[in-house]
Amino acid sequence: MNDVIIIGGSFAGLAAALQLGRARRKVTVLDTGLPRNRFAGHSHGMLGHDHKPPLDILAEARRQLARYSAISLVNVRADKVSGGIDDFSVLTADGESLGARRLILSYGVADQMPDVPGFAESWGTSIVPCPYCDGFEVAGQHWGLVWSGPQSHNQVRLFHDWTDRLTVFADGHDIPPAIRADLERRNTPIVDGRITEIARHGDHNPTVKLDSGPDMAVDILFAHPRNKPAASLHEPLGLATLDTPLGIILKVDERRETSMPGIYAAGDLANPLTPPSVTLASSHGAMAGIFAQQSMLT
Ligand SMILES: Cc1cc2nc3c(=O)[nH]c(=O)nc-3n(C[C@H](O)[C@H](O)[C@H](O)COP(=O)(O)OP(=O)(O)OC[C@H]3O[C@@H](n4cnc5c(N)ncnc54)[C@H](O)[C@@H]3O)c2cc1C
Repeated sequence: MNDVIIIGGSFAGLAAALQLGRARRKVTVLDTGLPRNRFAGHSHGMLGHDHKPPLDILAEARRQLARYSAISLVNVRADKVSGGIDDFSVLTADGESLGARRLILSYGVADQMPDVPGFAESWGTSIVPCPYCDGFEVAGQHWGLVWSGPQSHNQVRLFHDWTDRLTVFADGHDIPPAIRADLERRNTPIVDGRITEIARHGDHNPTVKLDSGPDMAVDILFAHPRNKPAASLHEPLGLATLDTPLGIILKVDERRETSMPGIYAAGDLANPLTPPSVTLASSHGAMAGIFAQQSMLT
């Protein structure tokens, strides 16, 4: 029997495993190797790991975890979770059933690419979600923002710390007059019409094609497609969720415990803050590991 099974072995899950392994708790991490930022050439903003390929950061983390004999890293998908506190079962895609006293869910979220030719191919290079992650390298250049709802207004305010050259693409959204007036005051033009295609020229400089009006080239495009949990293991368990403007996440308390005793969650799967962040995922993962361990003290 494991003390803890961690489902999702990326930034959050491996950070949880590190704390548990150092506390000499028996841990199994199940992972399918598809972190959310795998499309990005470099990861930015994590202290000590700035401007490194994300998969390199994770590979180094896995190498470091190999010191801890209590941690077992397994490349397999978790398909089903059942049981309750002190007696959970996890069924893997290999047909194996593993037992644990506690679970940590850290299987992340999956961004849902819109049905626009060129969008998915550009994701992580010429279309990116977060200025903290990718803004510095293109500061002062001409940015585009694909409007995704009222929350996009905050992005406009945020982006001005990086550039004064911003164009908003309404993409079929009805932007209210008060917001239009504010954007005008900020010298931020709005291009109406729906985006029909993204044409790429190398890693940057996407050209946005529209159903009305001429094409428009920008140096980089920011967009916030909706996302959903990368697995649905929490659904049959009935775990409480929160609705955010971009998708559903798991609800956790201050100790990262979900609505079901003994199940903790960390990383993008349970992070209501935007933008998503490797640093936050790791810190919440470490918290989940520590609180899961402390919940087993006699
Ligand atoms: C394009 C892009 C660029 C980004 N750039 C940055 C950046 O520069 N800096 C930054 O701080 N943040 C960046 N982010 C955000 C960052 O990717 C996330 O915050 C971070 O990956 C969240 O870590 P996580 O461990 O919660 O989830 P993830 O990293 O998404 O990992 C989830 C893991 O769970 C696994 N998994 C899923 N389902 C199962 C299952 N059923 N069984 C077993 N395993 C499963 C997946 O394969 C994956 O390995 C970027 C995001 C995107 C989309």
